[in-house]
Amino acid sequence: MPATRQSRVIDCLGVASGWPSADRRHSSYLYRLGGAQVMIDCGEGASGAYGGLGFLPDDLDHLVFSHQHSDHVGGFSMLMQGMWVNQRRKPLAIHAPSKAIPALRAWLEATLLFEGLLGFPIEWKPLIPGETVSMGELRLTPFLTCHLAALERTFGDQHPGTSFEAFSFLLEGDGRRVAHSADIGAVSDLDPLLQRPLDLLVCEVAHVEAAELFDRLRGASLEELVLIHLEQPLWEDRDALRQRAEEQLPGVRVRVAMDGERIPIR
Ligand SMILES: [Zn+2]
Repeated sequence: MPATRQSRVIDCLGVASGWPSADRRHSSYLYRLGGAQVMIDCGEGASGAYGGLGFLPDDLDHLVFSHQHSDHVGGFSMLMQGMWVNQRRKPLAIHAPSKAIPALRAWLEATLLFEGLLGFPIEWKPLIPGETVSMGELRLTPFLTCHLAALERTFGDQHPGTSFEAFSFLLEGDGRRVAHSADIGAVSDLDPLLQRPLDLLVCEVAHVEAAELFDRLRGASLEELVLIHLEQPLWEDRDALRQRAEEQLPGVRVRVAMDGERIPIR
């Protein structure tokens, strides 16, 4: 097993929220756990950030999309173009909300990245709520969140060409349990992730109030909290946010993730 597969880390490729940011790339997180290498979301800038880590073109095993907002999918076609020009050969599994798959395929077509040209097969896998996917020794379970519920109520009927599903994820491997909120709509979206003790929670704080989040996490069995997806005013005041979290969650290690940060899964 190559050394890169033995690591138990998260590389934060982009931690920004949905607003353009001068000093952060958009959502993308590379998990290495259970011998698998899994990218969750692929916001703008992900391909360059990934390339900068020095992996080989065949190293990425799985690409997972939480939902279809641009700050989570905007780097997809460039990541695929990078794999094409770098001559990836290994099949790539892409997991996405089921109705997003035709939209993502059309996007590759529109950007001249024909599946017959790429040089490696794509295995398209629809995410099914609550259904665990095995990725070697890593297990990933997607849970629906209400992040896009209001948008769906207003626009769902008129826009059948995309998906209004949004997912959070539980990752289990190497005896560790890690949760990744992606984008949520309410603090209660975290409930399925918090049912059992977590070693690490990577949680967004753009669509929920920090105070409400810390209230929910108080009493949860959690070793470490990594805050992501901060809107600019909160980002500029991130030390204060971290301190508030530490005060309200005694015993929990807290950090606010930066682009390029490598976080060990302890
Ligand atoms: Zn987002």
